[in-house]
Amino acid sequence: MTILNLAAKRRTAAAGAPAAAKLFSARFFSGLILLLALLGVSCATVKKTQPSAAPPPELVLAPPEDYRITMAAVGDNLIHIELIDNARTEAEDVFDFDKYYTRIVPLIKNADIAFINQETMIAGVEFGYSGYPLFNGPKDIGKTILKSGFNVINHATNHTMDKGEEAVFEVMDFWDDQPLVAEKNALVLGINRSPQQRDNVERNIIEKNNIKIGFLAYTYGTNGIPLPKDKPFLVSLTDTALMKKEIDALRPLCDFLVVSMHWGNEYEYTPSNRQEELALFLAECGVDLVIGHHPHVLQPIRAIARENAPPMICFFSLGNFLSAQKEPQRILGGMMRVSIKKEAAPPYRVSIEDAELIPLVAHYENDHKNFSVYPLSDYTEKDAERHFLRQKNKFSGISYFHELLNDVFGQQLKPAPLNFTR
Ligand SMILES: [Zn+2]
Repeated sequence: MTILNLAAKRRTAAAGAPAAAKLFSARFFSGLILLLALLGVSCATVKKTQPSAAPPPELVLAPPEDYRITMAAVGDNLIHIELIDNARTEAEDVFDFDKYYTRIVPLIKNADIAFINQETMIAGVEFGYSGYPLFNGPKDIGKTILKSGFNVINHATNHTMDKGEEAVFEVMDFWDDQPLVAEKNALVLGINRSPQQRDNVERNIIEKNNIKIGFLAYTYGTNGIPLPKDKPFLVSLTDTALMKKEIDALRPLCDFLVVSMHWGNEYEYTPSNRQEELALFLAECGVDLVIGHHPHVLQPIRAIARENAPPMICFFSLGNFLSAQKEPQRILGGMMRVSIKKEAAPPYRVSIEDAELIPLVAHYENDHKNFSVYPLSDYTEKDAERHFLRQKNKFSGISYFHELLNDVFGQQLKPAPLNFTR
C-alpha cells in the first residue's frame, strides 16, 4: 500500500466513526480498536472519534519530498593566446584566469552539476603555450575551472591531440592531482588512460541529492591528428557501435543519462544532417539529454520524441563560453539550465521539469584587455560600447544579440514542445 493510499484510508476511517460509535457496546468498540490497529490506525486517532470530542483535525501524512537537482552547462572554453597573455601575473608561470569568470560564478555555483567544454589543451609550460591552430595553455586554467564551481569537464574535442599523446597524459595527471576533483567528485570526460578505464563506465556517474547522473562524451575527430595506433581509446571518438555499447552499459546504472557531443559545422546556426542523425540515434539509445558544442555559435534546442519515455532534450550547440574570436556571432554563447526531478516513492520516475538557455556575452576591450563573461541580462549598453568589436563597428549594440537569439531560437529560449513529464 502506498503512503498516499494509507493516508486516504485513515481519513475515511476517522470521518466514518462518530455516528457509528454510538451503537457500539464497549466490547464491540475494543474489537473495533483492535481491527483499526491491525489496519495501521493509531489509538490516538480512534480516541478523537469519541462522540463527545470536537470534530477530528484532518490527519494527512505529507508525501515524501521528491528529489530535485539543477544542472548547468557551458560551451567552448577556447583559450586563445590573448587570453593567456592577459592572465599573466608578475610571478613566473602563474596566471590569473579567475578574473574572466567572476561575473558568471554565481550562476555556476547555483547549480548542483556544472559542465564545461574545455575546448583546448591545458598541458602546461613544458608543451609550450600556443593559440590557433594548435592550442595549449597553463594548468592554472583547470584550477580556475574547479574554483569557479564546474564539476564535469569535457576533453573530447577536436583539439585534444594538438600537442600529442604525452600532453593528453599530462592533462589526465593534472586532474588526478587536484584535491578539488576528489573533494567534489568531479568528472573528467572523453580522455582515457587504458581500455579498462574507458570500459569502466561506472566512473562516469555523479550523484547529487539521491539522483545518479551518468555522463558520456564524444568528439567527431581530432583535427586530422591520428590517435596513437596502440592507444585508440585515448580520446573518445564518435563511433556509433562503441557509443551504443557504452550507453547500454551505463544506462541501467544511472537515473538520468547525459551525452556530451562535440559535433556540427563551425559557424553554422542550424544543425547539420549528421547532427540530426546522431540526435535521433542517441534518443533511440535511451539518452535523456544532449549537450552539444563545437560550432562556436548557438544552435537550437529541441525536444526529440522517444517511445515510452519523455522526449530527449538536445542543446545542439551552446556556442563559445570564452574566446578571443573576432566576429560578434561568436561572442554570444549560452548556459544550459535544466531542472531534474526524481520521485521519492516507487516507481521513482525521473523527468526534466524545465530546460532553458541563459544567453552569455564574452566581453573584451582594445588590445584584448578586460576579458569577462557576462550574463546578457547584466550586460549594459555602456558595457557593449567598450567591447572591442563594437569599437570596430562589428555590431550595433545589445539589440544585435537579441535579434540573433530571435533568429536562432524564436521567441523563447526553451525547447518546444515544453512537455517533459512522463
Ligand atoms: Zn571544437
